[in-house]
Amino acid sequence: MASSPKRRADPDASAAAPPLLAWFDARQRDDVAWRGERDPYAILVAEVMAQQTRVETAAPYHRRFMDRFPDVWTLAEAEEDDVLGLWEGLGYYARARNLRRAARRVVSEYGGRIPRAVSELRTLPGVGPYTAGAVASVAFGLPEPAVDGNARRVLSRLGDLETASPSELDRAARALIAAVPERPGDVNQALMDLGSAVCTPRGPRCGACPLSSRCLALRRGTIGERPPRKRRARSPERAEAAAIVRRGGRVLVLRRPSDGLLGGLWDFPSVALPAPTPTPPVPALTRVLREGFGLDCRVGEEIRVLRHTFSHFRLRLTVHRARWRSGEVTSARQHRWVGRGEFGDLAFPAYLRRLINEDVSPRAVSPRNAR
Ligand code: SF4
Repeated sequence: MASSPKRRADPDASAAAPPLLAWFDARQRDDVAWRGERDPYAILVAEVMAQQTRVETAAPYHRRFMDRFPDVWTLAEAEEDDVLGLWEGLGYYARARNLRRAARRVVSEYGGRIPRAVSELRTLPGVGPYTAGAVASVAFGLPEPAVDGNARRVLSRLGDLETASPSELDRAARALIAAVPERPGDVNQALMDLGSAVCTPRGPRCGACPLSSRCLALRRGTIGERPPRKRRARSPERAEAAAIVRRGGRVLVLRRPSDGLLGGLWDFPSVALPAPTPTPPVPALTRVLREGFGLDCRVGEEIRVLRHTFSHFRLRLTVHRARWRSGEVTSARQHRWVGRGEFGDLAFPAYLRRLINEDVSPRAVSPRNAR
């Protein structure tokens, strides 16, 4: 759509900064564990946790994580299993592995001090533009934008940005930050809070918004089109079957390769059931246990079907009981035969935890789930 003179961006958009901060100051969320925090390490942990998780959900994880790994040195020295264990349930486990790797880099290359500059922060594993901007602005008071999905929505509506491209958003955020240069971190956090609490995707509460008198999308009636929607195709379904193999009182578990999906977590022997004519689960599991793991097992009844949505596919996992008859595990993957009560010591994907607690090891109490 061609721009008309009437549709030019507000040249004085930065005037929105004072009312935005006044709203932020009056609100001061108490459900965000790291609000008011200035320790760059604590902020880095918080921002990594909040990358794909709501802050209310991440807050208790952040508290537990900081209790266990209070500084960058303890995290750098931690075992990956311990870090993944504290992350269990948050999902996107690559974040946890990257955070540990980032801590090791900070210790080895920066003497244990989190770097200040965005260009240096961006070199740390798992640190993208948003996280680098958040750490630089909140921890070090540098005038750097941190635009997450909530801030993107507010900025694109406030300035009625048709495309809301990264460079447009960057410019808009910098204009607001420049208006109150002594509080860059608060401007970033206020934008995110406003997007989360008031300027919501559907049904924004413009009557309660501190920016309503300056909001171009409100004035022009374009709120529903801002920001432009990204079209997403429905993700494909992937069918798999898994076996709970029992040998005496123990169950076979395997560790996933550390560089792949759910890397470093534990799960059960499984097999893909490729569409469109999938092999029935029982013969498929029997064969993979024999050929892939060196075990002769009797695969029995179905326990339940689990469904889980990943960012790029939907998993449909049929879980069966199986009884070991002979053979020793030949898989290259790390494995263990786990007894009742030991499941709480290992990190599993969250979608398996209920199965474990209810069907695999019902009397075992996981310390992580008991919290
Ligand atoms: S006035 Fe409405 S659309 Fe504009 S920023 Fe506020 S809540 Fe969002």
